[in-house]
Amino acid sequence: MHICKAFEMKDPNEQYHHLTRLIKLEEFGDYCNGHYLHTWNDGHRYLCKCPACKALLLVQVSEFHAYEDAYYKDFFAVASREEAIALNEQYDGWQIEREYTGRKIHQTF
Ligand SMILES: [Zn+2]
Repeated sequence: MHICKAFEMKDPNEQYHHLTRLIKLEEFGDYCNGHYLHTWNDGHRYLCKCPACKALLLVQVSEFHAYEDAYYKDFFAVASREEAIALNEQYDGWQIEREYTGRKIHQTF
């Protein structure tokens, strides 16, 4: 399994810039198997490929709507589209952040 180098990076800025280059392959939307695919108020998940590493990542975007909105992104290393879909079916937005024990990156901005 190819793993994106971002999961090994110690420098958050380097990691952030690496992850801005991802190419979106497939949109999974905001709902799957009876649960939402985001935390807070709004969001969605999609499958990406890293052009540098040729690795696949599942990305979860979440929005918190308030006086000042907040945005969260989670990145998960996956081996295949099928693995990404399996994660969508197994974990809702909160569960994938808290319970998933594989390689993940959490960004707040
Ligand atoms: Zn990469």
